[in-house]
Amino acid sequence: MSALQLGLMGFPLGHSYSPLLHRAALNTMGIEGEYRLYPVPPLPEGRQAWQTIFTRLRAGSLHGLNVTIPHKQAVMAEVDVCEDEARIIGAVNTLGRDTHDRLWGANTDAPGFLRDLYAQLGNALPACGGRALVLGAGGAARAVVFALIQANWEVWVCARRGEQAQFLRDALRASLPSAALDALEGIPPLGGLPPRLNLLVNATPLGMSPYAEAMPWDASLPLPEGTAVYDLVYNPRQTRLMTFARSCGAPAAGGLGMLVEQAALALERWTGQTAPRSAMWQALEELPPAEDSARDKPMEEG
Ligand code: NAP
Repeated sequence: MSALQLGLMGFPLGHSYSPLLHRAALNTMGIEGEYRLYPVPPLPEGRQAWQTIFTRLRAGSLHGLNVTIPHKQAVMAEVDVCEDEARIIGAVNTLGRDTHDRLWGANTDAPGFLRDLYAQLGNALPACGGRALVLGAGGAARAVVFALIQANWEVWVCARRGEQAQFLRDALRASLPSAALDALEGIPPLGGLPPRLNLLVNATPLGMSPYAEAMPWDASLPLPEGTAVYDLVYNPRQTRLMTFARSCGAPAAGGLGMLVEQAALALERWTGQTAPRSAMWQALEELPPAEDSARDKPMEEG
């Protein structure tokens, strides 16, 4: 087989970790291949680059593609086979071609989140489902809420715009009518917190560099006892919300593990082999401090 041609399409992509993660993994797997960045501006401006990429995918000269902001929804119109999870979530972050030359679309954010959640915080969480409050109701929140519902969690999703949270709830309930899912307005919710929370998830960009001082929680409001915190933000690695949670005695995890896991799951889809997660983590650890801080800029990835 010719060298595997993989990449990431989105905009902007300047400081993406994806090439680093995938190249480290391919190297360890002994697979000859490349992982390139394909910056495609929002449509209609990016139309020509978009068409070039999809022509290559269909022709098989590009073997697999990750997709990030702002194209995760729009690429769904291009795929021949959209997996159920991606269809319900309403976003595709991984594309490939099957043996019948059909373009398939999948979402690895949802399983990536769930795996990393239990890997990092499993000891502090109920074994099969609990009660979660998800802050934010954008694309990432939708994958997170879907994943939690599939794992038997009761979920409250809240957004500063109540109608956005309601839209997410209604969209997921249309496909998962028995989901225990409710929508609240305000961050934190204006009407007060749901009782006996086990998990708080930040799915807003608050706390992301260069706005690392921001926190999606009112620091004068103590975290409910017994609540673990998962912050999807991974830059900086230790967010202000995580520091606050730990100061309250709560276990907390950041989103870097989800980023590694969604990349590993995509690579497994393309190669049919187990991705070497430890080599991917190692590549992140080996980033020179200067380069790591150069990445302390807003990243439109994930
Ligand atoms: P998105 O679609 O733009 O949604 C962001 C959500 O946060 C929206 O509900 C938005 O509300 C809300 N929000 C934004 N600024 C806010 C503020 N100042 N106060 C209150 N709410 C605010 O973004 P996304 O794709 O869901 O990504 C969200 C975060 O998750 C980003 O930091 C992203 O890097 C991270 N992420 C991480 C991974 C990972 O692998 N770790 C994967 C995906 C995403 P409005 O619509 O009202 O602005």
